[in-house]
Amino acid sequence: MVRTLRFDVVVVGGGGAGTRAAIEAARNNPDLEILIINQGPIGRSGLTSMANGGIHWVSHPEDSFEAHFEDIVRMGYFLNDQNLVEVLVHEAPERAEELIRWGAKVLMDGDKYLLTDPKGSGCSFPRGHYIPGATFMATLRKELERHKNIRIFEDFFVTALVVKEKRVIGATAIDIRKGEFLVVLCKALVLATGGLGEIFLHTTNSPFGLRGYASGTGYALAYNAGAELIDMEMVQFTGHQLYPPWPLGNLALLSSLCGGKYVNALGQEFLKLPQPRDMIQKLAYKEIKEGRGSPRGGVFIDLSASPLTREEIEKNLRVSLGGEIAKGRWELIKKMSVAKSDPKTWKVEFTPGGAHFCMGGVKINEKCETTLEGLFAAGEVTGGLHGANRMGGNALSETLVFGARAGRFAAEHAKDSRFFEADREFVDTEFQRVHTFFKDQGVHPCVIRERLGSLMCANLGVIRNREGMERALRQIEDLKGQTEDIRAPKFKRFNRLWIEALEVASMFDVAEMVVRSALFREESRGAHYREEYPETRKEWLKHTCVRKQDSKMDLTTRPVVITKLKCGHD
Ligand SMILES: Cc1cc2nc3c(=O)[nH]c(=O)nc-3n(C[C@H](O)[C@H](O)[C@H](O)COP(=O)(O)OP(=O)(O)OC[C@H]3O[C@@H](n4cnc5c(N)ncnc54)[C@H](O)[C@@H]3O)c2cc1C
Repeated sequence: MVRTLRFDVVVVGGGGAGTRAAIEAARNNPDLEILIINQGPIGRSGLTSMANGGIHWVSHPEDSFEAHFEDIVRMGYFLNDQNLVEVLVHEAPERAEELIRWGAKVLMDGDKYLLTDPKGSGCSFPRGHYIPGATFMATLRKELERHKNIRIFEDFFVTALVVKEKRVIGATAIDIRKGEFLVVLCKALVLATGGLGEIFLHTTNSPFGLRGYASGTGYALAYNAGAELIDMEMVQFTGHQLYPPWPLGNLALLSSLCGGKYVNALGQEFLKLPQPRDMIQKLAYKEIKEGRGSPRGGVFIDLSASPLTREEIEKNLRVSLGGEIAKGRWELIKKMSVAKSDPKTWKVEFTPGGAHFCMGGVKINEKCETTLEGLFAAGEVTGGLHGANRMGGNALSETLVFGARAGRFAAEHAKDSRFFEADREFVDTEFQRVHTFFKDQGVHPCVIRERLGSLMCANLGVIRNREGMERALRQIEDLKGQTEDIRAPKFKRFNRLWIEALEVASMFDVAEMVVRSALFREESRGAHYREEYPETRKEWLKHTCVRKQDSKMDLTTRPVVITKLKCGHD
């Protein structure tokens, strides 16, 4: 007998967006019962907790909402839904100040905020404040626990959304500690499951193998429920660090803030900063492809060429990592790395194509409503805000602004809604599916995960072409055919390999969405570069849309929402 629980609002995902959503739902209506479900411990799993902590909002009197808006849209190559961008820039200051009132420490310069982001990084005004991810999440967690009407389920993995007549009415989940499969019914569900970086072998989402819980299951949950997803081809890459090992944040990204020189294996400088993230990746890729890469397949940021002193470089890195706030963090990071202590001697080696952030995702409107009734979404799992390229610092503000909105509108929806019963047949089928992995012999899920990650890196990285993408599709099909062979050992309590097997099964859908959308978009724009179509094309200023139709992946397009700023094509 499968146990069924009932909550007015269920939030899936306990990162920045999900936690903020649960808090807002609870504040909006203290009579509602809210549940937040997270795969790991809230505050110590997910991408928010590992963020460096650069967070953008307009706080300086000489900065403006208009400038912030324009920076995001230009850096997004005009593929942004501008209604969402307007919401972000106008609400980010209030949401960030609120987080600070709740206790988050922000880096100060005397009695003013310390603001970073030089001109040229896409930011027309220094707008980057620093609240380290760990501090950000610790503050949200404390606030979450203050609300008596919020229940917290940690170490729970959601396996499917329950749908009735195109309405999301709940979810099925596994209590990882007990190994129990259960049904949770609700009147409104907020999906806030974060990114998909882990479908690529090289990713900042799992630095040096530390899991970031970013296997993208949320995209698959939405897809299989019938929701529409947009721009799934838009995956932002940064340098995947090869050397020195660096346990937190991305040293390759951070070193560029110190004015180091980008050099190939011959010591030749191949780009001049500042450059947007997508350009750095493309130029580094070209060096390696043309035979000027290192034996490990990388290029370098040579910090000896930095105009800064050793002390200044250290200070920059420490600030970027929030080390001024999270005391001891910087020293710990240095100890864990094998890098020599003088950063002026560092040549930071990286290879382009470390998946960092997905700009595409579940289609939402300003109320965080998706195309399915009862389903709301917020955070990295959604698409449309960042267009074809995300500017650093806007993902953290996104979690606060859209998390709060999703919570508020989900609570309002729940107030006027009722519970529906799950179809028995659906629950039985899902129960069977999740229990198919227990067997004596078969393939370890991590082997399949690694194969999938490798093929995605090889064919869907910084530079793409039809041949590679079609090869990727065939290889994904082959791997899918091996799903039945994936094996988890035969026990249920705290069986991480069981959850891993379930994640891998849904990663196929996520990878396929990325590949099919990338094949569909016949142009280059932002993070998506195709050799056959190197130009950005006016007729492609539209979203790619993917949706499940009669068990197949159906691709269409939809117009971009333009409220203010027209693209230079016109
Ligand atoms: C190394 C790194 C540094 C970054 N630095 C910055 C920065 O400085 N500034 C910035 O703006 N952005 C930064 N980003 C991006 C930013 O951190 C993320 O985009 C953002 O935090 C995502 O928040 P989220 O709430 O959407 O998802 P997350 O914080 O990832 O939370 C999602 C949660 O959902 C849970 N979950 C997923 N699937 C399931 C499931 N099936 N069942 C139950 N739970 C599930 C996961 O366990 C996870 O805890 C960085 C990203 C990385 C990887």
